[in-house]
Amino acid sequence: MKDLSRRNFVKMSAVGAGMMALGMNADAAVMKEKDVKWDEDFDVVIIGSGFAGLAAGIKAAKRGLNVVIIEKMGRIGGNSVVNGGIFAVPNSELQKKNGVKDSKELFISDCVKAGLGLNHVELLEVLADRAVDTFNFTVENGAKYLDKLLLEGGHSVPRTYYTANTSGSGIVQPLMESFQKLPNATVKTRTKFDDFILDDSGRVVGVQVRENYRFDNKLFSDDRENKGGDKKFIKAKKGVVLASGGFCSDKFFRKLQDPRAVPEFDTTNHPGATAGALISAFKVGALPVQIGWIQYIPYKCPDEKGNGITSKFAAQASFRYGFSVDPKTGKRYMNELADRKIRADAMFKIIDAKANSYPINLCDSVAAAKLVPSDLENPMKSGVIKKFDTLDELAKEYKIPAEELKKTAERYNGFVKSGVDEDFGKPMKLTDGITVATPPFYAMRGAPKLHHTMGGVKINTKAQVLDINDEPIPGFYAAGEVTGGTHGASRLGSCAILDCLTFGMIAGENIG
Ligand code: ADP
Repeated sequence: MKDLSRRNFVKMSAVGAGMMALGMNADAAVMKEKDVKWDEDFDVVIIGSGFAGLAAGIKAAKRGLNVVIIEKMGRIGGNSVVNGGIFAVPNSELQKKNGVKDSKELFISDCVKAGLGLNHVELLEVLADRAVDTFNFTVENGAKYLDKLLLEGGHSVPRTYYTANTSGSGIVQPLMESFQKLPNATVKTRTKFDDFILDDSGRVVGVQVRENYRFDNKLFSDDRENKGGDKKFIKAKKGVVLASGGFCSDKFFRKLQDPRAVPEFDTTNHPGATAGALISAFKVGALPVQIGWIQYIPYKCPDEKGNGITSKFAAQASFRYGFSVDPKTGKRYMNELADRKIRADAMFKIIDAKANSYPINLCDSVAAAKLVPSDLENPMKSGVIKKFDTLDELAKEYKIPAEELKKTAERYNGFVKSGVDEDFGKPMKLTDGITVATPPFYAMRGAPKLHHTMGGVKINTKAQVLDINDEPIPGFYAAGEVTGGTHGASRLGSCAILDCLTFGMIAGENIG
């Protein structure tokens, strides 16, 4: 024990404790450089090809470093590519153009309110300070946005951009093209990261991966059940960036953290959103932060699998310019513009899954006209959003007491006019005076779905992964959903792109 510094001693104790909790033997679990033979080497190894990994990759490769992004799935982009393409940018040009006054302080206070005060504010400060720079980075790399400023639930002011193709792929694809154009950039798909390799000083110096890996989403928790692929050791001369995303699809690990997240519960995430890489980070002493906070997104639909295509209707038309009712009573039950957690919790209270009873989100034609047309047309074609000439017809379809529904609409319209929601405190000034009155009416069934895991490894403002002593683990960086603390108990909608890209960029700028 003599030759161990305090840092290493505490670190190894933490590793040991973590290992015991995971039922593993500490010595056997942490792989050492002296025990492996490198098959390949790069300056930087990035684990994951979503927003965070791509931003880190471009920044590091532009510094002349030799970079590899490894991705376990057959396709790149993880959750980022199926993300809704909404990007919060406080103090943006688009806000200025639209006369919206925003500030760093207002952005942070909105996030902290939603996060129930659990947020690591120094990380939010970085997001506020770098937001415009991060947005410009995507534009320089080919991303395109609509000239449309969105208001997302929980934000005090409209501050959200929308990608031109209304999807996160509108950022992922140009970023990937940009990365691959760089001479010193490599992408390996179907390559699964398994473990970090340390040198004797405790520095992360490489990774063990499996090439020709085939993800099998029929397995309960693919990361720990699938043993396929060819083992290889990749040296990372300057360091490793962990950008492996969250674990909403990990049926074992998520339920361990939040017992409400039973395996039958649907998620918006891609099947590869599992916890294996995060657990490997714990094995080498990364400090876990707030792992149990899982966000359920309130504007999803039980009649679609996974992410679906109804969110824009629910969030941007119905919740903002209309309302949501409990079909059993015909009454509203929440502030439709509260943050995600408040709304999801309110929905859980009225949902009776066994009786197939879910809330109904509705609005009128003036509200629906505010949408990008395809956000209404496509879900109507697939039948998950329906159109009605009268509120009576709408009530009949969803088995809502019609008289109660009409009374609810009348009462709600009164609140729009008076500017005060006496029942749930919805900020009526954000409804732009739009009532639920002009036919046709549009409606869908609503449900919360597992969406984002707030917890993860602790990073500092330089995206360095910290150990239990609050000290950086040399050679180890992380960004994106795999990190914890930024969003506290609940992340505000449209802050994921900002978070993943910003800390990805910072990791790529600082590594080495
Ligand atoms: P973020 O939004 O934080 O960038 P994403 O979910 O978009 O996260 O991207 C993370 C990517 O990391 C996904 O494509 C996922 O398949 C990949 N990934 C997760 N675990 C591993 C692993 N063990 N090895 C390689 N890639 C991984």
